[in-house]
Amino acid sequence: MAKIKECIHCSQCTSKCPYGLDTPKLLEKKLEDYENVAAGRVKVD
Ligand code: SF4
Repeated sequence: MAKIKECIHCSQCTSKCPYGLDTPKLLEKKLEDYENVAAGRVKVD
């Protein structure tokens, strides 16, 4: 997860994704979710 913070938004992954996913944005959101759960701000069932 910590590697997400090293993303330099070069868009190499987004230009190759066959689904057109905005991978850097998705990774940022997943990291935010992860940090909220890890800090106890959000609970998952
Ligand atoms: S995640 Fe995608 S945009 Fe970020 S550094 Fe890696 S290839 Fe570049």
